[in-house]
Amino acid sequence: MNPCQRRGGVAQDRAARLSARGVKEEWTRLVSDRAAGKLHAYVHIPFCARRCVYCHHHTQTLQRGALQAYCGRLLSQVRFYEDAFSRTPISSLFVGGGTPAVLSCRQIEAVFSCYMAAFPFRDDAVRTFEFTPGTVEAEKVRLLRQLGFSRVSMGVQTFGAATLQAMNRGDQSPRSVSRAADILHRAGFPHGFNLDLLAGFSGVEDALTSFESAARLEPSQITVNLLDRHPDGARKENLVRLHDDFIELAEKLPSLAADLGYGFRPVLGALRLLPTDPDWTFSRRGADGRLAPHMYGWRDTDDVRPLRRRNSVFAIGHSARSYLLGRAIIWEDTKAGNGFDPESCSYAVRRLPFLRCGRDIYSANFP
Ligand code: SF4
Repeated sequence: MNPCQRRGGVAQDRAARLSARGVKEEWTRLVSDRAAGKLHAYVHIPFCARRCVYCHHHTQTLQRGALQAYCGRLLSQVRFYEDAFSRTPISSLFVGGGTPAVLSCRQIEAVFSCYMAAFPFRDDAVRTFEFTPGTVEAEKVRLLRQLGFSRVSMGVQTFGAATLQAMNRGDQSPRSVSRAADILHRAGFPHGFNLDLLAGFSGVEDALTSFESAARLEPSQITVNLLDRHPDGARKENLVRLHDDFIELAEKLPSLAADLGYGFRPVLGALRLLPTDPDWTFSRRGADGRLAPHMYGWRDTDDVRPLRRRNSVFAIGHSARSYLLGRAIIWEDTKAGNGFDPESCSYAVRRLPFLRCGRDIYSANFP
């Protein structure tokens, strides 16, 4: 169960729906209003090579035919929505999943050359594409640079061999991560690359040593995601253990990170790591001692969490959430083989509480 469903003020709108044409009209109205806040974009690719045991995102294991058909549905959505945004520059794009890099070069080119041509971007827009270590290939990375992507985020989670096995990520190794990091360094993305780690799965020691291993690869950012403390059926003692782990990590990580040349970027004025945060992001310190800019796109920069109503996220893809005027708008049609037909498809609408944590803003973990 994700936070959206747990909290008050959301479930009561469960039955509300909008047609695709209705959604497009609302976007057109919103972006023509000069008072509208920033516009961010998200594309969801719900396929992975294998399923990690802790994952609650909307994704499925890879089926080649399904992937190709899905690209067709994404293209239909791009063409349907492009004129709604033709004069409104997008501030950031995040392509996530799932594992977007399971797309072939051909599929990436087909979808994202069309996407980049359809929607205008601000000059300083951060455009991020997600990888796992095993999917990083020099050719794919070069193509993304050519298409205008400026940043990569790579899910590593841990460097511990036993933990990787337990996570069902046994195809990953420190060597495969190091190889992928080399390719990303050589590609020279203007906004660098981020490594994602997961804390809470295998104790404090695993998280600290994984952070050290990640820092040795010199990414521009390291994001430590905290394992969801509220999975369905979670046992009480497990919640207590996780909470204790996060308190200990919040005390130890900042000084370890500082020794390794990374600094904690506070979000919304927080002065220290909070064990209740969904994640902690560390940026690399440059030769001048300053932290690299925080390049996370919309997720935790200036404005999203408290001012959701003034900032919007335009999302395409199955179960991806758009955020529009304080509501989440979700295309729930996840059956393989179903196309995107603007005449017949409809979206679920959920009203959001005013203050929300940023965790699910770009995730697509709607069941
Ligand atoms: S954690 Fe990432 S790679 Fe693993 S199944 Fe979930 S989306 Fe896929």
